[in-house]
Amino acid sequence: MRSAFKVSLCLLIFAIIGACDTKSEAGNGSSNTNSISNNNVTDQQPNNNPLQSGSWLTGGGDYRQAYFSPLKHINRSNVTELGYAWHIDLPSEHGYEATPLMVDGVLYGSGPQGIAFAVDASNGRSLWQFNPEIDPQFMRKVCCGVVNRGVALSGETVFVAALDGHLFALDKIDGTVVWRADTFMDRKRGYTITGAPYIAGDLVIIGNAGAEFDARGYITAYDRHTGEQRWRFFTVPNSPNPPFEHPELEVAAATWDPDSLWQVGLGGTVWDAMAFDPQLNLLYVGTGNAAPYPRKLRSPVGGDNLYLASILAINPDDGRLVWHYQTTPGDNWDFTATQKMILADLTIEGKSRQVLMQAPKNGFFYVLDRVTGELISAEPYAQVSWASHIDLDTGRPVETAQAEYFDEPKLIFPGPQGAHNWQPMSYSPQTGLVYIPAKEAGAIWTMPEEAFTYQEGGLNSHSQYIFTTPGEWGLDSALAKTLPPLKVLGAGQPDTTIRGFLRAWNPVTQTLAWERETSGPWIGNMNAFWNGGGVLSTAGNLVFQGRGTGELAALDAYTGETLHQIAVGASMMAAPMSYSVDGIQYVAILTGVGGGNGNDYVPGMAAYTYGNAGRLIAFKLGGGTVPKRPEVVHAGASTAPPAVARRGSPQQIMEGESLFLRNCAKCHANIDGRGAGIPDLRRMSAETHRAFRQIVLEGTLVERGMGNFSDLLNADQVEALHTYLIDEAWQLLSRNVPAGEWHSAEQELP
Ligand code: CA
Repeated sequence: MRSAFKVSLCLLIFAIIGACDTKSEAGNGSSNTNSISNNNVTDQQPNNNPLQSGSWLTGGGDYRQAYFSPLKHINRSNVTELGYAWHIDLPSEHGYEATPLMVDGVLYGSGPQGIAFAVDASNGRSLWQFNPEIDPQFMRKVCCGVVNRGVALSGETVFVAALDGHLFALDKIDGTVVWRADTFMDRKRGYTITGAPYIAGDLVIIGNAGAEFDARGYITAYDRHTGEQRWRFFTVPNSPNPPFEHPELEVAAATWDPDSLWQVGLGGTVWDAMAFDPQLNLLYVGTGNAAPYPRKLRSPVGGDNLYLASILAINPDDGRLVWHYQTTPGDNWDFTATQKMILADLTIEGKSRQVLMQAPKNGFFYVLDRVTGELISAEPYAQVSWASHIDLDTGRPVETAQAEYFDEPKLIFPGPQGAHNWQPMSYSPQTGLVYIPAKEAGAIWTMPEEAFTYQEGGLNSHSQYIFTTPGEWGLDSALAKTLPPLKVLGAGQPDTTIRGFLRAWNPVTQTLAWERETSGPWIGNMNAFWNGGGVLSTAGNLVFQGRGTGELAALDAYTGETLHQIAVGASMMAAPMSYSVDGIQYVAILTGVGGGNGNDYVPGMAAYTYGNAGRLIAFKLGGGTVPKRPEVVHAGASTAPPAVARRGSPQQIMEGESLFLRNCAKCHANIDGRGAGIPDLRRMSAETHRAFRQIVLEGTLVERGMGNFSDLLNADQVEALHTYLIDEAWQLLSRNVPAGEWHSAEQELP
């Protein structure tokens, strides 16, 4: 029979530049940080740069979100002396995706579920930790890991959003709760929050996630002092007819089939990037993918389906839309425009332009005029086959025949994980380059045989896909066997080798300056895709990036030459940041991987060798070697027989597979260790088998993140699911040990 474990990936959502700057880089890059007490992110002026004095005020540094530090004590001439300064261990083995903030000598950060913390930036001493104590039921509503992408800071308050939808204002001195707001309009639907709040003047803005489930995207603005709701902006309508919650939805509704699948929510969630330009008083918001994915199912007559996969510019005073630019009209491929946006001033054709730059999942690098939303340029920064180009006159992509998979399977570039995902890119105004953690992986898309049925609070994306990786997880999967071979699907298409790159992109000429491959030992499989984390660039003309393999790499920002690699003893995907305290420049990064089919937990991953507990680590010149955790003792090959005998009819096992794919595979598929403590259900102990029904229907492991599924599954369905998992366990053994041995092992079971 077809194996859901095998087809797991289908369900996992999933110029050379000017001459080098030769002037001295060893200048005085920092001073004390006391001069910026009570700093308000929104008060900053372009000529008054707090980053220069050592602070780091937003995830990307300041309102520009460039992930660029003007500090240069650490530079190309001395970076080989960069080493360990201090670390602090953090709770949770789920992935860490946030970049900490630093003001007045204190680092503020966040982690899985929305935990938040403050530590002394000079030595890592814990000042406070905050646990939002979420409703664990929301742990099962994540598409892509129980993660959190950071805090916001304004005045005396730190803001963090919890997975279960609560936005917290915390006193920055002691972490106590100042106010709390429930940001979810419907707690039965598949809403979660994994993104950071953003500050816009006196407002704090938060979005949400859940487009793979049944979320209707929106953002909400709260008074940052009181927590009072000021306005809410929906990214998609919920009906073709008035009344609409706000006038922009009437415009949007005209771009949808009146018979669209309104009940599913339609997606467009704002799960990551926003930015705020205090001079223009514009809030920029990136919106997510459609739900369900296939447009001919979602909005049968077609249409752009506003405001999916768009960049929105909103006036924060009244919550009204000023302009919008849709990167992927009629999204069909999970092509979010939620990737980080960088605000910069570029000289283009002799004119200084205030631009917004984004490298969304769809593979094109966009430069927009951030005052008007005018498209200035867009060129592919990775292999793209869904569109031939972006027409600069219309601002629209020109789709290819390859883009539509509704009637027949298609290999499409990029795949649903995108040519760039949430991992922050960086822009250095010194080199004029944008450093993109770019990915190359097309996917084979196909429609499931089953008709679509809406499931409240469940997975509703519907399309299926596999990546072009060999082995039982990809091209050798049972699903792949139902499709034409890759040589047929891939005829005339781009290279299907899965790889990762750090690409230096010139946003003015829209050309590649240099690239370094970051695939590690994994060229051809998904670990190659995920091995390169978020990026920091500095005025020391350095680019920093953490890797799943456990190295923090420092590269020459002009050439891409690797100048230094620090063995961190932990897998990384978050972007580093840099700050200074008492005249010392530090580079800091949160470690720990996980998230949407993040790196497989396999030899070569630092998380495999040293475990995956979260850690904040700081580095300085003259530092030492990083203290590693004890090595993990791995149980060895999976030759132990399953703890229970096979049972169930073939029909039950088949039903169990279908239930597994819809309800379990988001977390439990492809887990020869996902690195985030999510068990491989083919290796359940006898005790777990005995407790299986209670775990699924009574929520007995809810504190560990295993949700209660009693609203989605009944007892008969749980038994079917169990028979399927037992069958899978025996199939796994049959691949690892000679038949005679496992047959006798099965016979010995009670
Ligand atoms: Ca998605």
